[in-house]
Amino acid sequence: MKQLLTEKPRVLKMIDVEEPKIEGPRDVLVKMKAAGICGSDVHIYHGTSPVATYPRVMGHEIVGVVVETGKEVTKVKAGDPVIIDQIVACGECYPCKIGRPNICCNMKVRGVHIDGGYREYVTAGEEAMHLLPSGLAFTDAVMIEPMSIAFQSCSRAQITKEDIVFILGAGALGKSLIKAVLLTGARIIVSDVVDQRLEEAAALGVSRIINSKKEDLAAKLKEYTRWGPTVSIDAAGFPGSLPLLTDLTCNAGRVITMAFLEEPSPVQQFKITAKELDIRGSRLQNHKFEEVINAYKAGKITIEGQVSHIFPFAEAIEAFQRIDSGDPEIRKVALSFE
Ligand SMILES: [Zn+2]
Ligand SMILES: [Zn+2]
Repeated sequence: MKQLLTEKPRVLKMIDVEEPKIEGPRDVLVKMKAAGICGSDVHIYHGTSPVATYPRVMGHEIVGVVVETGKEVTKVKAGDPVIIDQIVACGECYPCKIGRPNICCNMKVRGVHIDGGYREYVTAGEEAMHLLPSGLAFTDAVMIEPMSIAFQSCSRAQITKEDIVFILGAGALGKSLIKAVLLTGARIIVSDVVDQRLEEAAALGVSRIINSKKEDLAAKLKEYTRWGPTVSIDAAGFPGSLPLLTDLTCNAGRVITMAFLEEPSPVQQFKITAKELDIRGSRLQNHKFEEVINAYKAGKITIEGQVSHIFPFAEAIEAFQRIDSGDPEIRKVALSFE
């Protein structure tokens, strides 16, 4: 089979290797149908991921069809369309024991620490398999993964309908967050510096949008909320974003970080203490695939319409080159194995 190997940063090779085989009784062999290219894949390709190791087969948005199952597999059968959970957890460390395998101390993420979906066949344990809803195209189904990241952030923030949620940044992550927060019934305010992104946020149903380049963000938030947002989610992730959100968030509020930013953020401890802020990280997702799939099935969220470009898997290297070209038309790329 063909696989796209990132030998080292910026060196991609399409190579022939043997197909993986079912080893354990609970293993499932999946023929790939589609894989998304995410911002974090581009970081791995560029060598700017703080967690990836090389050589690596990237790809953590992994969609395919089951071709073979181990003897003890009951969750899926041959022919089932699936998305594969990106997390492999040890089951033994403290976070695993308390039901948080997404931050397992020995975690392996497919496409990051172990090989992912940019290859024609993948094996994984049946626990990683999630049945796709019928009628969803494989290339659209890759978006279940980014949506699960947004669901995780909402669950970390423990949002209720009484909350006022401020989302900093209306890019791809910000928009997934908007969809997820809308399900909670909380009020939403979104800021960005690009009008077009804010218009797209408004089209999703956000009535309070702020262009922080043109308007005074703090004054606007005061006008809209009186005491400040009760939850702030950082979907922008720059060194000044965390200090900014500790300033803007209401006393007793929650601030959620999502970026893998290695640069220090100069936060005043005073703000956290005096306001009793909860600063919480949100990483990957903890059993959120099923929640996303169920919300989609119930007609509560849309998943389609987000992939702007589809490349055949054979042209995966060209796909990365196109993303690197900075073409503004490129928003979300999916690789198709059909
Ligand atoms: Zn992703
Ligand atoms: Zn663990």
